[in-house]
Amino acid sequence: MAKLRIEQVPVLRDNYVWLLHDAASGATAVVDPAVAEPVLERLGQLGWQLSHILNTHHHDDHTGGNLALKKATGARVVGARHDAQRIPGIDIEVGDGDSFLLGTVAAMVFDVPGHTSGHIAYWFPDAQALFAGDTLFMLGCGRLFEGTPDQMWNSLLKLRALPGDTMVYCAHEYTQSNARFARLLERDNAQLMARVTEIDERRGQRLSTVPAPLALECATNPFLRADVESVKKGVGMPGADPVAVFAEIRRRKDVF
Ligand code: ZN
Ligand code: FE
Repeated sequence: MAKLRIEQVPVLRDNYVWLLHDAASGATAVVDPAVAEPVLERLGQLGWQLSHILNTHHHDDHTGGNLALKKATGARVVGARHDAQRIPGIDIEVGDGDSFLLGTVAAMVFDVPGHTSGHIAYWFPDAQALFAGDTLFMLGCGRLFEGTPDQMWNSLLKLRALPGDTMVYCAHEYTQSNARFARLLERDNAQLMARVTEIDERRGQRLSTVPAPLALECATNPFLRADVESVKKGVGMPGADPVAVFAEIRRRKDVF
């Protein structure tokens, strides 16, 4: 199995920047560098040379460090073909179904519109790692700034179809607030209730809750469960269409 070392760099208020390192080749990527300085510092500590900057979407808290990192390291910027004009310093444009190598480790790209129109996710199948940006959070999903509920639901279905042992690396520590919301929708979900308790314990110790296994998200994240009858009932919409249920869950979370 391909080796990929993954390091978390917490920045700003609640952003996670991820460093990926293929020891076999030395290739090193940063995912969604909100800022450059803490990334350069950690790279220095680790002795890693940045070769790629991977952006999931154009928001400044995901691309703000692009140009400074590119200048300091010569790394190549990878971003969405459909959103190239909004990705600072983009060199390599990718889209749904594309694959590329980070050194010796294969990556696959998914278009996952909804949070933004050009949002993409990066999947490293041999490393069992998914970088989901602001599309799929632990127990949550991104706000629909540029997309429809239908688009976002279909984006989430794409991610849900990946192997359950895939670890989901998202871009924000929003888990505790998501957990407080999720528990209200599915009170009979024992796995969810146990997870909520564990999240409170971890956050009480200021520990990160990211990443988490996709299988656990599928079993507990209401935004991945809009087609599950207990969640439909939880929002008072038994038998309703999943897109309508998803839209209602998203609407409620927006005002939660
Ligand atoms: Zn965003
Ligand atoms: Fe963000």
